Amino acid sequence: METKKPANRRETEDRRPEGLTSPVEGFNDRARRAVRDEELHDSVELFTNKSVAGRNAVLNALPEAPELRERAYRIKQETMANLDRHLGQMADAVEGRGGNVFFAETGEDVVRYIGDLARRRGAKVITKSKSMATEEIELNRRLEEDYADLDLEIVETDLGEWIAQLAGDTPSHIVGPILHMNRRRITEVLSETAGERLPPDVEALGSFARRRLREKFLAADIGITGANFGVAQTGTIATVTNEGNGRLVTSVPPVHVVVMGIEKLVPRFEDLSVFVRLLARSGTGQKLTVYTNFVTGPRAPGELDGAEEFHLILMDNGRSELLGTPFEEALYCIRCGACLNVCPVYRQTGGHAYGSTYSGPIGAVITPLLKGGKEAKDLPHASSLCGACWEACPVGIPLHDLLLKLRNKQVQEGITGRAQGLAFKGFENTMKNPALYRISGKAGRLAQRPLAKAGAPKTLPGPLGAWTNSRDLPKLAPKPFSQLWKEGI
Ligand code: SF4
Repeated sequence: METKKPANRRETEDRRPEGLTSPVEGFNDRARRAVRDEELHDSVELFTNKSVAGRNAVLNALPEAPELRERAYRIKQETMANLDRHLGQMADAVEGRGGNVFFAETGEDVVRYIGDLARRRGAKVITKSKSMATEEIELNRRLEEDYADLDLEIVETDLGEWIAQLAGDTPSHIVGPILHMNRRRITEVLSETAGERLPPDVEALGSFARRRLREKFLAADIGITGANFGVAQTGTIATVTNEGNGRLVTSVPPVHVVVMGIEKLVPRFEDLSVFVRLLARSGTGQKLTVYTNFVTGPRAPGELDGAEEFHLILMDNGRSELLGTPFEEALYCIRCGACLNVCPVYRQTGGHAYGSTYSGPIGAVITPLLKGGKEAKDLPHASSLCGACWEACPVGIPLHDLLLKLRNKQVQEGITGRAQGLAFKGFENTMKNPALYRISGKAGRLAQRPLAKAGAPKTLPGPLGAWTNSRDLPKLAPKPFSQLWKEGI
């Protein structure tokens, strides 16, 4: 297999990343439909309320939480500043332990590497544990399509991901992939898979899933995982899970493949103590997840378990283009999902409205950056800029600030359109000029008079109606504040 060192993408030709192939256009339409879906709303509310309450309780009980947050930010900052060096160190450490390392510039490269590996190994069954990186590049679909002759059976083994896969659905939350499904729907999906009507109770459904998945674990030729963290110093891959599936994926099949975004690196083993303490608390409100796994290369002589062949794929897919830019902080994300849970937009729409693997505030930031600003142009506006996401983020990523910068970038690149640009220019001129401001106020009050007779107008006519699609038109006061002030209020 080819092994190549990372290219510094800041010095190379600007290339459009591949992967993220789902259409992300149309957030506004999907969001409008989602807010009317009461069942979805109940499911999202239940999950996010529980997660926020749990997070607050465990973080309030951790006096050093603010200091950990600060340290997490500094570690990520230092890592990104020297990413090339740390990646090289990671690759050397893994190869030194007998593992294979592949630097994948694009999602396409990842698919090709794993497909070729599956062909070489004569693989039939691939088990996977939860991995956002592979969701991002739609690995399952692309392997099934591009390597159709291998007739691969690719099985998600995280319970939520498996149910989503069986339903032909996609995850709607980084941590709770099927939070949008209620028990009735889950029972339907699993009953269809079982070929019999299963009772809608957690124990029966869980027991069926365990039996069915165990067959796949034992039959697997290759196990694929993501990585919550990769330690450059030792070449260790750390994964945190709440189900035992991760361990079965890494230790039963003869081949273990890790697909890791290059930003998941931390320099030293001791850095994990900062992130592991923050991740579970922020994501699920646990002090620690049930399983914290460390895998360092293939099984060594004398070891009882582990894969005989170990492959680490370090995936770029557009990430290195953010290094050294005003958006670099987006790479500090540890995918805990806390910003989704507190976001007033996500809490109304759920994750599918975003049309991307990554939803909520972090999705609204990284999807346009990885996918391209034009296609995902609605997403930076899917925020009230209240800053709740930044407060919740265990790494202190100023998401609201990044969203504002993205909006500014859209204006600079002409993505927002001429009409919107002219409207804001007109607004700016009006606000700067007191006489013009007074005249516009008078004109507005006059214009609303005939409409007000038929009740308070809620929408604007013609193309201006787009602005009032998602908000009520505020009624202008009969007298402006300046006049009330003169009259002594
Ligand atoms: S941006 Fe922060 S809060 Fe949101 S998923 Fe990433 S680490 Fe968690």
